[in-house]
Amino acid sequence: MTDMRIPLAGVIGSPIAHSKSPRLQRYWLNTYGIPGYYVPMDVSSEDLEQVLHTLPKAGFVGVNVTLPHKEAVLGLADQITDRATLIGAANTLTFRNDGSIIADNTDGYGFLENLKTGAPDWVPSSGPAAVLGAGGAARAVIAALIEAGVPEILLTNRTRVRAEKLREDFGNRVQVVDWVQAGNIIEDASLVVNTTSLGMVGKPELRIPLDGFRKGTVVTDLVYTPLKTRLLQEAEEAECITVDGLGMLLHQAVPGFERWFGTRPAVDTATRAAALR
Ligand code: NAP
Repeated sequence: MTDMRIPLAGVIGSPIAHSKSPRLQRYWLNTYGIPGYYVPMDVSSEDLEQVLHTLPKAGFVGVNVTLPHKEAVLGLADQITDRATLIGAANTLTFRNDGSIIADNTDGYGFLENLKTGAPDWVPSSGPAAVLGAGGAARAVIAALIEAGVPEILLTNRTRVRAEKLREDFGNRVQVVDWVQAGNIIEDASLVVNTTSLGMVGKPELRIPLDGFRKGTVVTDLVYTPLKTRLLQEAEEAECITVDGLGMLLHQAVPGFERWFGTRPAVDTATRAAALR
């Protein structure tokens, strides 16, 4: 392999056609005049290992990873960052020159950066955070909230045992609350986060009581299709500070782009527009 190769990167998942990452990364490549390419790759679980070992030989410098491979790639990586280990999943792989793989998880970083931008006055230590959902995204969100200094996380999930597992993994700052009590924890929280897929186009609506919203509470939804979910709409009506999920998607992509292509890209209005195009 020569040093003059054009850097290649991409996103691996299945299905992958819906991914906004290629549009976003190509926008940054164009904006910064970088002679690289970023491609979507639909890869089955059976082929994942072989593909990951072949890509570096073909000039790939790294890839993003999405469903259903975020956990499986940890078993194929040569080095795993502490935060990816804690979360139990990776979304950003970087290939070294010798083809070895570094696995990282930037979802928590993206989540916090999005909050910092969308709700700059939110102070993590100001009160409990209510987290709805206990899937893969919730793990990244909880790890980030704990690291940021949130004193208490009120966690609720339809399948309680999944939430209990997160309490086991993340410790006493996480308090598990029954799904039927979801409306109540909203009243007590200074930050409310939806990490379930409810409210997303094609999925059922998030049907928990939302009349407990207080003015000034920060409310964010990881769902970004639609951009304004019912949760965010009702929060806005209650004069909460709302932050949509698209910003998290944009911010989580920054570390990968910087590592692979050597430039730290900006997340601004034009970037949002490019991802939505
Ligand atoms: P996941 O691991 O499959 O978890 C799905 C979560 O949704 C679980 O808590 C699940 O509860 C809950 N859920 C699904 N259907 C439900 C229903 N009918 N009633 C109640 N709860 C239900 O998925 P994930 O990876 O965590 O992703 C969750 C959402 O976050 C997705 O919409 C994804 O697109 C979004 N996301 C956004 C970003 C971003 O950058 N904005 C990043 C990551 C993820 P059970 O445990 O009871 O099944």
